[in-house]
Amino acid sequence: MSVDPATLSIVSFPDKILLTRARPVPAITDEVRRVAERMLDLMDEAEGIGLAAPQVGLSWRLFVLDVPGGEGRSTETDPPSATASPMVFVNPRILSFEGPVEPFEEGCLSLPEIRGDVLRPPIVTVEATDLEGRTFQLRAGGLLSRCVQHEYDHLDGVLILDRMTQKSRLKTRSAVRDLQS
Ligand code: ZN
Repeated sequence: MSVDPATLSIVSFPDKILLTRARPVPAITDEVRRVAERMLDLMDEAEGIGLAAPQVGLSWRLFVLDVPGGEGRSTETDPPSATASPMVFVNPRILSFEGPVEPFEEGCLSLPEIRGDVLRPPIVTVEATDLEGRTFQLRAGGLLSRCVQHEYDHLDGVLILDRMTQKSRLKTRSAVRDLQS
């Protein structure tokens, strides 16, 4: 693989890569680090809190997120609902979910103008590799948990459209059709 990070940009639905299961990242190389940096910049520019590699056209199992504290979010709670600093997850694995699914409104940088209630369990534990090649685990709640689950879904080609409540699905139907045409 050889990617020029400067050429990456955010792709929108219905781009095929968003509907495709991404491939594992074989090794943490300088290229992977540069791509992750570029993804963090693109996420900031778009004022997002998470971005997955398929959203920049790469079939890589990698996502970045930065969920700032405030509005009831904190790094101090157990589990935390915000990040202390931007985080990179390479080849993440979901280890467990906790609690019954509940609705919460989500949007997606690859689905402009579309927001809807998505059903997810409140707490998730994920394991991943960081850019130094170290394995880490994170148990997350609140918006951080939402964000981890949302970005992880992107790696399996799953979008919020697939997890929305029936009501939100109906409400967003014409906006989805606009994106498709
Ligand atoms: Zn998304």
